[in-house]
Amino acid sequence: MAFDVDLFVIGGGSGGVRAARIAAEAGARVALAEEYRMGGTCVIRGCVPKKLFVYASAFADAFEDARGFGWTVEGARFDWPRFRAARDAEIARLEAAYRSRLAKAGVTLHDCRATVADPHRVRLADGREVSASHILIATGGWPVRPEVPGADLAITSNEVFELAGQPKSVAIVGGGYIACEFAGILNGLGTRVTQIYRGPQILRGFDDEVRAHVADAMRSRGVVLELGRDIARIEPVGAEKRIVLTNGESHVVEHVLLATGRAPNTHGLGLEAAGVALGRNGAVKVGDWSQSSVPSIYAVGDVTDRIALTPVAIREGQAFARTVFAAEPTRVDHALIATAVFTQPEIGTVGLTEAEARARGPVAIARTAFRPMLNVLAHRDERMLMKLVLEAGSERVLGVHIVGHGAGEMIQLAAVAVGMGATKADFDRTVAVHPTAAEELVTLPAPVEG
Ligand code: FAD
Repeated sequence: MAFDVDLFVIGGGSGGVRAARIAAEAGARVALAEEYRMGGTCVIRGCVPKKLFVYASAFADAFEDARGFGWTVEGARFDWPRFRAARDAEIARLEAAYRSRLAKAGVTLHDCRATVADPHRVRLADGREVSASHILIATGGWPVRPEVPGADLAITSNEVFELAGQPKSVAIVGGGYIACEFAGILNGLGTRVTQIYRGPQILRGFDDEVRAHVADAMRSRGVVLELGRDIARIEPVGAEKRIVLTNGESHVVEHVLLATGRAPNTHGLGLEAAGVALGRNGAVKVGDWSQSSVPSIYAVGDVTDRIALTPVAIREGQAFARTVFAAEPTRVDHALIATAVFTQPEIGTVGLTEAEARARGPVAIARTAFRPMLNVLAHRDERMLMKLVLEAGSERVLGVHIVGHGAGEMIQLAAVAVGMGATKADFDRTVAVHPTAAEELVTLPAPVEG
């Protein structure tokens, strides 16, 4: 049977764009539909605008620290609309670059919503149908709001980027990385931030020592962390909102930001009717090759609920396209994926946490917490944490956890060593780069077992 295209990609985010481009470059006839803006969550309302916000916010530290180095900094103030205009211009530039790169590769773009009509047909919002030998679902994820009265009065990470002016006060609900990053960003910019999380500690899933270290640092930077608290409802109070907790406490703030998780974006896509098996939260169930239960339909990225990170979606999109259209069977290794969390201070992590490693067998821990040189003249007490989780005996590095300035940059390279099976002796054999904070990683004290 002749199809209109070889591949139809639904979703122009990190995974979809990469898959479309690689498939087209391999000679496939490719179409892609995007219902919002090309580039997806990462470029439009995720990693990129978030990191620009982090940079903007970090100047507050720089101005404060500068005094200790002899500078007089007067009259520094943040102009939200000016920053927003600059940020939006950069995002528009990136979006245009994505668009032109796809067009250059020969991908046909449809600026509309698309759904699956059957295993080989996609229906566009205007009613047109396109037949395809393969369909790739790359529709990403969407913020989930808790089911409490007044939840619709709150904003999510989607809307926080659209705020016209800087809020005076914000209550952030959630303890995950997005909640913690926005707590740091807004606090740094001068917004009064209360972060409310129902668990006993923020950043579930990260190393416990890292979680405690970051929580302490966030508190001492001015974020009010309310742990072990759940929200009951949100009510309007004039132009503001009152967030009422289940213990009866309440806070009146300009905005409530719900960062209570994200779910795969499969609602109304027509997948079940086409026979595609969905798992937890509506995620598309896929095997190692990102193939769904329907052989002609594949899925990559956040919609599969594997590891919701941009580089993972990109890898999955690339592996799919190479496998199916370039005759290069490629599988993605989801182990040992390094990641950074742009809290203030920043986290870089790869491999097992201490608790995960202990659950597998005996471990040894090499760690240090020190005041980096930058903080001394700046009169900043904040310490940097570096920790190697080692397999007892062999001292193979199972996990590296860093908190502090540049942690995200450092972990990328540490991940190469961990992926190669490095031991603590390999780290120690490496001559230090001086004077840096990173040198502490190769001069750690002897590990403690047990
Ligand atoms: P997406 O990028 O979400 O793209 C999906 C696209 O599909 C969207 O553009 C959507 O409009 C479109 N779409 C959906 N349904 C349809 C349809 N029916 N028809 C047409 N189009 C459709 N990751 C990191 O690695 N580092 C970070 O620092 C980081 N920070 C983040 C910060 C925030 C606030 C958020 C929300 C996410 C962050 N992420 C980060 C995660 C990262 O953005 C995602 O993992 C990544 O974007 C997933 O790519 P994707 O291709 O699966 O989906």
